Amino acid sequence: MKSMDVRSDGTEPKEQPQPVVAACQVADLGIAPHQCVAPQPLDPCTIVIFGASGDLAARKLIPALFNLYRNGGLPDPFRIVGCARTAMDHEEFRAKLKEHLALDEPSEHSQWDDFVSLLHYQSVDYGDITSFVKLAGYLKTLDGERKTGGNRIFYLAIPPMLYEAVARHLGEAGMAGEKQDGSGWSRLVVEKPFGRDLATAIALDRSLREYFEERQIYRIDHYLAKETVQNILIFRFANSIFEPIWNRRYIKSVSITAAETLGVENRAGYYDEAGVLRDMFQNHMMQLLALTAMEAPPRFETEWVRDEKAKVFRALRPFPVDTIYDHLVSGQYGPGTINGKQVPGYREEPGVRSDSLTPTFASMRVFVDNWRWQGVPFFLTSGKRLAEKLSEISIQFREVPHSIFRSVFGEEIRENRLTLGIYPEEKISLTFQTKNPGAMLRLRPVTMDFRYRQSYSGPALDAYEKVLLDAIRRDQMLFLRQDAVELALAFPKSEWTIRASHYRLL
Ligand code: NDP
Repeated sequence: MKSMDVRSDGTEPKEQPQPVVAACQVADLGIAPHQCVAPQPLDPCTIVIFGASGDLAARKLIPALFNLYRNGGLPDPFRIVGCARTAMDHEEFRAKLKEHLALDEPSEHSQWDDFVSLLHYQSVDYGDITSFVKLAGYLKTLDGERKTGGNRIFYLAIPPMLYEAVARHLGEAGMAGEKQDGSGWSRLVVEKPFGRDLATAIALDRSLREYFEERQIYRIDHYLAKETVQNILIFRFANSIFEPIWNRRYIKSVSITAAETLGVENRAGYYDEAGVLRDMFQNHMMQLLALTAMEAPPRFETEWVRDEKAKVFRALRPFPVDTIYDHLVSGQYGPGTINGKQVPGYREEPGVRSDSLTPTFASMRVFVDNWRWQGVPFFLTSGKRLAEKLSEISIQFREVPHSIFRSVFGEEIRENRLTLGIYPEEKISLTFQTKNPGAMLRLRPVTMDFRYRQSYSGPALDAYEKVLLDAIRRDQMLFLRQDAVELALAFPKSEWTIRASHYRLL
């Protein structure tokens, strides 16, 4: 034995199992960088952004389109028309957007200078049909000049109360229709929330469907466009070793977590109405649950994947009304300090009512009533101002049925755990037991880690880049279908539960 293994009192130190991270080999497929973005030629088109003077357009949409442009991921020809009430000309619009971009390298500035020629601006009055008739004329002129083929994506980056009016005016001004010859398509991208509750979601859908077909409506949940989220299905259904154990026999519980350190920031108006249940659970959390729990569709096709997700929502067990608090806890963040800096509680945030009962945290235990998942709890947890920003799905496997080692080292054997990390790092981790090297028989937990960006040198798409590209490509896989929206809103008798969770805060 080496001297360093002997303590000053002459005794040998007790061997401690050390967690180990195993290396992982990943092949680089050598796909050309541009093919990692848009493998097929894309239809020329114009994207019309309503609410172009707002936060979403400046912080997410335009930077995403600019990045796609830089990576060769946009169609050619392509045009962006910003629309909002604010009076601006093209140059003012372009200058305003540039302020929000962090352009460091001289090459980025010159790419931006090229990109701005794609950007146009038209002010609109959302309540006035003549404004939309004028817009239709402007788009037609652009089609003629820039050869954008009459193909349009209308992106609603506006407050939800305006969705119905804008969709109706688009229809009345003749911009919702699609030509029979296949040229000149029209798509409507809608940001969440897709209604405050089931009734308003149905009413919104009815008004969107006055002029647009379901196949033209893209209900966005950008969270679903993250690599790891998409990879859940590849992981489950392109590997034969996991699917046989992906059930109640081997899985003890599933935890889905989306924790934020930020507070409500500048979105109090929306958030105080929505709360964590509508903001996170009825979209992101339910979608993650569906991807984790769904059956394999016969083929990886949009409608079939969406069908399987909808079946999971139908199988969710309603919360028992008399023991609701055994299944759901909620709370609101209070004042405190972060890195020595005083931060306000939720009720002291600008724009939040001082008597607000809106929950900013919730954790629920959910059961999926089918053969695969009977009795397996799914713990869904999300909230603002939590200790750590973290998003992950954690699959906790059952312990071994019988430990043959108990008589040797008397330890409980920790269960295997598979973690699909979404944030801070997109990764897959599997934890299992090995023997600690040496004479003494001890367990040593090992974590095998695969990081998505490992050995990948091509461009990576952020979530908004991916959803914008998918809308251009007519791929609705990552967008929500109305039946799934309604099923998620109907769970778990939401109005009652949200009210109940409010009372819990008192
Ligand atoms: P903003 O509050 O920034 O509003 C967008 C634009 O809409 C404004 O620039 C304004 O333009 C116009 N607008 C605002 N209020 C009114 C009003 N009362 N009547 C008419 N027009 C109005 O919103 P965001 O950009 O933050 O969000 C847009 C949509 O996207 C919302 O539905 C939001 O829920 C959703 N969303 C936003 C996210 C974000 O990160 N910001 C993330 C996910 C979803 P003008 O006055 O020039 O017409």
